This record gives sequence, structure tokens and C-alpha cells, in this order.
Amino acid sequence: MVFTAPSDLSGGLYFLNGKRTTVEASETFDVIEPRIGKVVAQCPKATAQIVDEYVKVASAAQPAWGETTALDRGKVLHKVADLIREHAEELAVWEVKTNGKPIYEARCDIASSADTFDFFGGIATAVLQGDSLELPGGPSQRIAYTRREPYGVIGCIGAWNYPFQTCVWKVAPALAAGNSVVYKPSPFAPASPVLLGEILTAAGVPDGVYNVIQGEGEAGIALCEHQLVAKVSFTGSVASGEAVQRQSATKNVKPVTLELGGKSELIIFDDSNVQSAVAAAMLANFLNQGQVCTNATRVFVQRGILASFTEAIVKEANEKLKVGDPLLEDTRVGANINEGHLQRILGYVESAKQEGGVVLRGGERVHPEGVEGGAYFDPAIITGLTDEAKAVREEIFGACMLILPFDTEEEVIARANNTTYGLAAGVFSGNLARGHRVAARLQAGTVFINTYNDTEVNVPFGGFKNSGHGRENCIDTLRAHTQTKAIYVNVQDTTEHCF
Ligand code: NAD
Repeated sequence: MVFTAPSDLSGGLYFLNGKRTTVEASETFDVIEPRIGKVVAQCPKATAQIVDEYVKVASAAQPAWGETTALDRGKVLHKVADLIREHAEELAVWEVKTNGKPIYEARCDIASSADTFDFFGGIATAVLQGDSLELPGGPSQRIAYTRREPYGVIGCIGAWNYPFQTCVWKVAPALAAGNSVVYKPSPFAPASPVLLGEILTAAGVPDGVYNVIQGEGEAGIALCEHQLVAKVSFTGSVASGEAVQRQSATKNVKPVTLELGGKSELIIFDDSNVQSAVAAAMLANFLNQGQVCTNATRVFVQRGILASFTEAIVKEANEKLKVGDPLLEDTRVGANINEGHLQRILGYVESAKQEGGVVLRGGERVHPEGVEGGAYFDPAIITGLTDEAKAVREEIFGACMLILPFDTEEEVIARANNTTYGLAAGVFSGNLARGHRVAARLQAGTVFINTYNDTEVNVPFGGFKNSGHGRENCIDTLRAHTQTKAIYVNVQDTTEHCF
């Protein structure tokens, strides 16, 4: 099969046995194109019976895939990477239509997705090795060895902010380790995993190894509870993550990876280079319309640099944050995912104003020419809030930077850590010793020193505290998609007992 990017969604948003398809179901949800804010399709919601059918297909296909060598699976995954690169521009345009992000960002997501397949395909043979273990008495009596075996079916559930990349981060390690997958995307961005399915088939992933179901929470619950699903990998909010962990222990006990929300901080000390700190604060707040789990909306700025930083960040934002049609090359801020989410963000701006916040720029809905129906928001920079304000405590998941002054290192570490989240954090300082010292004390899964929002496929990604557990994007992630079997061997001619 050759991959050709579809021109519309008419081929169905389910994926089963190597093909796009659809299902019969009494309930549907609206598929909305965020760029224009219009309903472009209706998608059936998977019932528990449909989930059961898809999981059984994945379960039947897994053993043969799991028995291929890691080297052979790696070769297939390298082909997937090549196909993604070959079709990068078509996939980027689909990602814009699916999510509303600017095309220049979508291109980065697609490029890094190809790298993810190359990474896991490349390391599979080396990492999926067992150990040989010496036992008392030496190898002439007994030995033990371990094997890293796939779990079976991995149930994956994704969020909507990086639809293609989130799917790839879960699917690449799962397949490299010899598992099969049933993936449920967010109903707000359902198309990307189906396009990935067609690429996987074209690259040689056997039919049934990768499957996609659609729906809301109910489909996710059915997937978590299914007895043939051996592990769950979830990306989404803390509230849903808590439910997923509970659900994954109702019928049988499954390991769960949770990549959840955040309320991260960027700490800027007064010995920082202001222009570089401004660049990091832009990266920490305004990528993907602010809909980034690691975003540092809490920008703590030491008082000595507060006035110059504030003036510079407002100037930079005014000059660079062009809100517009995400398919245009010069657009830097595209559409929010939907109207409901925009209203939520506007609600946080309103609550900030009511709690003494001063909006220094943006903070309002805009209607860019040609795409007036989408949910567009001019990114906000807000000052004057205390740590108790609702916007400072809760995840906004939108483009709202909150500037919070501080005086001392001790004070800012305590304030930064005073959250139930722990996904990411940033430290900016001209003093690298301080950078490392503060990084060690921040309770976060990723800390950026003099930079922000870097993401590399070989570096672990995941949260502390309520931001989740388990990691994506690294060697450990591949191991976490296997279970270790220990095998004892008696190499003597006889076996004795102790009775
Ligand atoms: P969400 O929790 O509303 O939904 C995520 C997914 O979970 C969707 O597919 C949804 O249908 C499904 N779902 C909802 N309830 C479920 C249940 N009970 N059982 C199984 N599945 C269920 O989150 P969202 O609005 O799609 O995404 C935004 C959130 O995701 C933010 O909090 C953001 O920080 C977080 N996020 C985290 C990461 C990360 O890697 N840590 C990455 C992206 C997004």
C-alpha cells in the first residue's frame, strides 16, 4: 500500500486491520476544524462493544509482531520515519486543520515525530536485551537470565494539543517493543492518528497491530477497563488521569503511564540577560496558542530586573505575536482548539482582572481576516496578581503570561514549589552555579536552565507530583513497554530438594 494524504475525512476516522474505516453507532460527536470554527464531519462514538472488537483485533495481531526481532521491527519503524518526512508538508497542513496551530509549528511537530520513530526503531535491538545472571555455586550449577517481553495490547489515550506528536510518542515505543496498540484520540482533534495508521500500513506494520477508536470519556473508560489491555498510556488533564488510574485497576491491574497537566514556573534572576530571558519567556508561554502542558505561565521576576523585563517582554510580544490564519507563513498565533476553550481562557483573564491583575497587552478575542469563525485570542501579559489568584493557581492552558515579582532565592523556590503540579520549571541567571542549585530544588520532571520548552527524543519527558508518572521520549520509555521475565536454569544432570 502507498500512503496518500486524504483530501477530506470521508474515509472514516476509525482504523482497523490496516485500514481507515468507520463504525455504526447511535451517538456521534461534531468534528470541528478550529481554524474556521466549523463542523466538518460527524464521528460515531465507540461503544463498549466496539472497543471490545478493536481490542480483540489488536490482541490477535500482537503475538506475531512481538515474535519478530527488534531489528526487524526497527527497520519497519525507520520506514515509517522516512514516509513521515516524505509527506511532511501534507501532514503539517492536516495538523493545522486538525488543531489550529500555525503551519510553522506544525512542521516542527511532524519533523520531530519522524525522529521519534527513528529513535525507537534504532535503539530497540540494543535496549530490548535480557541479562545473564550468575548465581551462588557458579555457572556449572545454575544460571538465570532475563527476557524483556512485550505486554500485549497497549491502550493509548491522547489529548488534542499535539495530536500527531502525542500519538507518535505513545505508538513508536509501544510498537518498537513488540506490542500492539488501540489508540483513542481526543474528540477535539481526531484525524491525526488515522493518518498515522495509513503511514504505518504503508511502511509494513502488519494489519491489526495498530488500531484507532473514537469517542469521549466512555470509550476511554471501556479501553482502560478491558481485560485484554495490558497497559495504559494516557495524556490529558489531572482529573482525567486520576480517573484513568482508578479505571485501570477495576477489572484487572494494569501499569499506567500518566502525562498530565502543569502549572510551571520560569524564574528570572536579576543577573540575567534581559533579552535572552524575554526569548525564554516567549517560548514558555506562546507556542501553540499557549496550549502546552509544560508552559510556564508563572513568570517570577526578581525585582531588580522587573521594570526592564516587563517593558521588553511587552514590546517583543507586540512586535512578534501575529495572530492570524494558521495556514499563512507569517502567522505566529493560530486558533484555540474551540469556542468552549476560548471562553475558559477569557474567564481566567476576567478573574485575574477581578483579583487586581493589570492586563499589559492582549487578553481579548480577535477575528482575523478570512478565518473569522475560529476561536482566536490575542495573547495576554498580566501583572499585579498574588500567588493566591485563581489564574496563578490553576492551569489555564492558554496564552496568558503572569508576571510575579520576587526578592530572594529562598522565597522564590518556596513559592514555585507551592503547587500540586510538577511538570516543568525554568531558571534564568547569569550565574550557572545558581542555575544548577535552583534546578536541583525545583519539584518538576524537567527543568530548563537559560532556555525553555526544549524537547528532544532522547531526553526523558514526564511529571513529578500530580503532573503524572512514567516517562516518554527516552530509553526508559522503551523498557517501560516491556515486562521482565526471569528464567532460572539448572545446568546439572540432577535436581535436588531440601526435604
Ligand atoms: P482531558 O483530560 O479532557 O482529555 C484527554 C483525553 O482523555 C481525551 O481523549 C478524553 O476523551 C479522554 N478522557 C476523558 N475522561 C476519560 C476517562 N475517564 N477515561 C479515559 N479517557 C478519558 O484533557 P484535554 O483537554 O484533552 O487536554 C488538556 C490537558 O492535557 C491539559 O491538562 C494538559 O496539560 C494535558 N496535557 C499533558 C501533556 C503531558 O505530556 N504531560 C501533554 C499534553 C496535554
